[in-house]
Amino acid sequence: MKKIHLLAVGGTIASLSPDPLSCTNYRTVLDGEAVLAVLGRDKLAGIAEVTAEDILRMDSASLTPAHWLTLAKRVSEVLEECDGVVITHGTDTMEETAYFLNLCVNSSKPVILTGSMRPASAVSSDAALNIYNAISGAASGKLDNCGVLISMNGLFIAARDARKIHPTRPDAFTPVEMGSIAQITDGTIELYYRPVRKHTAESAFDCRMIETLPEVRILYAYAGAPADWFDHCVEKKCAGIVIAGVGNGNLSSSWKDQVKKYAPQLAIVRCTRANGSVNRNGSQDDDALGTVCGGNLSAQKARILLMFALAKGLSSAEIQQVFEQY
Ligand code: ASP
Repeated sequence: MKKIHLLAVGGTIASLSPDPLSCTNYRTVLDGEAVLAVLGRDKLAGIAEVTAEDILRMDSASLTPAHWLTLAKRVSEVLEECDGVVITHGTDTMEETAYFLNLCVNSSKPVILTGSMRPASAVSSDAALNIYNAISGAASGKLDNCGVLISMNGLFIAARDARKIHPTRPDAFTPVEMGSIAQITDGTIELYYRPVRKHTAESAFDCRMIETLPEVRILYAYAGAPADWFDHCVEKKCAGIVIAGVGNGNLSSSWKDQVKKYAPQLAIVRCTRANGSVNRNGSQDDDALGTVCGGNLSAQKARILLMFALAKGLSSAEIQQVFEQY
């Protein structure tokens, strides 16, 4: 029987609401064992031997890179002794935690994050089935070597592709412009493909070697957005900036002036606030601006990749390569 370790981080899946008809007014009170009890251990008989541990009990909006690092180190440790890890987590920043782990946990064993959009106590809660699906996936042997995955609403989505696109519905997660890695129905998993970008076992980044990560901020573009945000980032001694640009990662003329001024002293990555891939030296001249092109990574994931690249002391050209490989 496969040994699966559940790490509880908090979120709606660990929450109860006073009114079963309220899906948004809840308190995060359940520990790992209580999260498992939402499903009932009996449902896992014959599927996996499951142990549970509390890491944090938080709303995921308050998680920081320091929490990610603590979690990643614990995941790396427990994977030495078990066949897979399931992490129960708030959904708001789940895609960030998943991508962080995808880059720095060097194991080919399954690491699957799940959560719920409705508290465990709500009518029609998605908590129990999401827990069942995540544990079944981790124990199946089919999802090894797929990188870190998010399991929500019957889908297994690669950490790199997953995006929360709705604030309340159970189908809030989607692999933007991509497909799901696998799907599960009544405990049966159908695997479709494996991610080709570098992750987990083949990643050059290793959480066990990292104690802190450099500060990287995101600047979100909109019509009339102030350009002095760049000065503020430099005053705060940020090591990097990710721009969520308009359209094809496009910049206003005042932002371009700031980017040209500061790119020699800190890394600046150009992403889009839309979906899809920004191309290098297309509508913006990255060579002249000194920017790295973020491809199809969302700004919040580009920030994480940039933090790892900067922690390794990579040059702008090397960071560009990293963005093409991960
Ligand atoms: N507020 C919750 C969180 O911790 C939302 C959720 O878990 O669905 O992210």
